[in-house]
Amino acid sequence: MGDAFELRRLQRVTMTNSSADDVQTETAKGMNGLPNAERVRRLVPLLRDVLVLLGEDPERSGLLRTPERWAEALLTYTQGTSASPEDHLRVIFEMDDDDYPVGSDDMIIVDNIHFTSTCEHHMAPFRGTAHVAYIPNPESRIVTGLSKISRVVTLFARRLQIQERMTQQIARAIDDHLEPLGVIAVVQAAHFCMIQRGVEQRESTTITTARRGVFLTKPELETRFLEYLRMQDGKPDIL
Ligand SMILES: [Zn+2]
Repeated sequence: MGDAFELRRLQRVTMTNSSADDVQTETAKGMNGLPNAERVRRLVPLLRDVLVLLGEDPERSGLLRTPERWAEALLTYTQGTSASPEDHLRVIFEMDDDDYPVGSDDMIIVDNIHFTSTCEHHMAPFRGTAHVAYIPNPESRIVTGLSKISRVVTLFARRLQIQERMTQQIARAIDDHLEPLGVIAVVQAAHFCMIQRGVEQRESTTITTARRGVFLTKPELETRFLEYLRMQDGKPDIL
């Protein structure tokens, strides 16, 4: 009986979530077409109200233009919301089979990609580094420009995020667009919602990983990836 109740409860939660998502998507879709100037215009009175609710005087000289600056900053923090990783990952190159022989599982690693993102639970920043590696597919031998990997990290960071999802999105975007043999993303970040409030842990960081393809089935590849990171002159922050 307990199980049946649990099942019903789960179903209800699922349904509630999906309808909430639909509403949110509809609203967000409408916003995506709005020019930034219009968004700022509509955000300013709302953010001014926030200042008043915090007990501030929005007319004092230091705060006069704050709602406008705040609105522009929020739009910068979230400018990746409507952007697609495809914008960057459609730039691909094909190596010939001399350059990348069949059977190779050599990897391409881009490390120490710095990012700042926004925690969607507290609207507080979290910042850190991402390390990404992928093993090209020996059939297609498709690779992308090295800078594109860091652009993909920045794109996902400039959304309201949780670190766990951001890490998975980075790996999935590379997996979907380059169809490599495997991809791994490791992200380490410090969260200001843990530093400035709550548990006030200044030294604590969070590490998240996302692995796809052969990185799931061959643990020795993950070991090699970590060994390569340790070889770097400027040791990645994670090690
Ligand atoms: Zn948070």
